[in-house]
Amino acid sequence: MSDLKYLFIDFNAYFAGVEQNDDPAARGRPLIVVPLKSEHTMAIAASYEARQFGINRGTSVREARQLCPDVIIRHARHDRYVQVHKLLKEEVERHLPITKVYSIDEWACRLAPSEASRTSALAIGQKVQRGILENVGPSLRSSIGFAPSRLLAKLAAESHKPDGLTALESSDLPHRLEDIRLSKIPGIGPGVLKRLEKAGVTDFMGVWNLQPKQARKIWGSEQGERFWYSLHGYEVYEDDQPEKSMIGHSRVLGGEHETIGGAKVVATALLMKAASRLRHYKRFAGALTINIRMRSGRNGPGGRWGSTRRFPLSQDTYGFLKAIDNLWQSLETQLDDLRDGNGGTRFGNVSVFLHDLALAGDPKIMQGDLFAEQQVSERQQTREKLWTALDKMNADLENRMAKLGGEARTRPPSGRYVTLASQMGLDLNYLGAKIAFSRVPEESEFLF
Ligand SMILES: [Mg+2]
Repeated sequence: MSDLKYLFIDFNAYFAGVEQNDDPAARGRPLIVVPLKSEHTMAIAASYEARQFGINRGTSVREARQLCPDVIIRHARHDRYVQVHKLLKEEVERHLPITKVYSIDEWACRLAPSEASRTSALAIGQKVQRGILENVGPSLRSSIGFAPSRLLAKLAAESHKPDGLTALESSDLPHRLEDIRLSKIPGIGPGVLKRLEKAGVTDFMGVWNLQPKQARKIWGSEQGERFWYSLHGYEVYEDDQPEKSMIGHSRVLGGEHETIGGAKVVATALLMKAASRLRHYKRFAGALTINIRMRSGRNGPGGRWGSTRRFPLSQDTYGFLKAIDNLWQSLETQLDDLRDGNGGTRFGNVSVFLHDLALAGDPKIMQGDLFAEQQVSERQQTREKLWTALDKMNADLENRMAKLGGEARTRPPSGRYVTLASQMGLDLNYLGAKIAFSRVPEESEFLF
């Protein structure tokens, strides 16, 4: 039966391909892309010609020169890779719509029901590959896979590199995947791999024969069950289904918090709360938006203000706090435009939203790593761990308070929580009315 639903495209040695494409003299030659100008740095991409010498992603520059003295070494140009990514998207979208961009060089497209057969799917794949080579560039090679789920389509694409075109139908399962190493399957990270091993599962057939409930238990989350379904060809996790798309909090301001400084204290507290929930849901945020509404005066309404800061996907409160500082600097310069009819600048309401979310394990997060220099991303990971530890301390305290009951349960003294000095004594639960707490704000609320 023909039940192909997704096309998955993975560009082969993408960064190296772009470099070769932009410099015809480098085409067909061993080439690596490095993040830093140093002999000690490692290749973040290696052309297929370089791979023939045993040079791969992760090979050091020094080692690459030993393996192939003529290897071309190029410093990464991420802005250019993003530019070409856009051109490639335009080209692919001439053939079929893109459902989801996983990273700069990996995307999924949903097939129309009329394209579900092997023959018509492969014909589309050929058109896409030819279109890319002819209209975008001859060095931009890609592997394309087709399958009933995106996970399977990715595995199909991975099975033939470079220039692959592979369809994997339900009737091909499980035998076509029998020999695949578990660590090669997206969704099976080192942690899951260990837990699988503990459960006595060491090969593909072992995973295939699990029950969804067992998978859930081994993974320790519903992620396991989702994985099981997508591995068996059921796409249960569509991104266009309502999904948690932002995490945010709003507060009406009163008294000492009606000033620009007071509103910032509250915004910071709301942000810390949102960031803690972000980590709790195992999500990463790529943007922070602040919305402000000024109080109205007797002679007319106060203004509204909203602004967004974007950053590589992160869970690090410290980075988010820097974004708030930056937002407040620009708010300060625009304060005059926000005055009410009496010329007053009383702050009425503040909202803080973390959005452009990705789930832990999403390849986009890897992309974030590549784009940041390695050291920066390591520092960030350390901070993320630190904040997660602080979250746990806060949660433990909260639980202990809850057990005490009575006054202590309903009004925990926030000063005892691990928090910023500026927020000592600030009790978010009793700070004005809670609004927009559980409701997903409309996109229009972000555009004043
Ligand atoms: Mg790739």
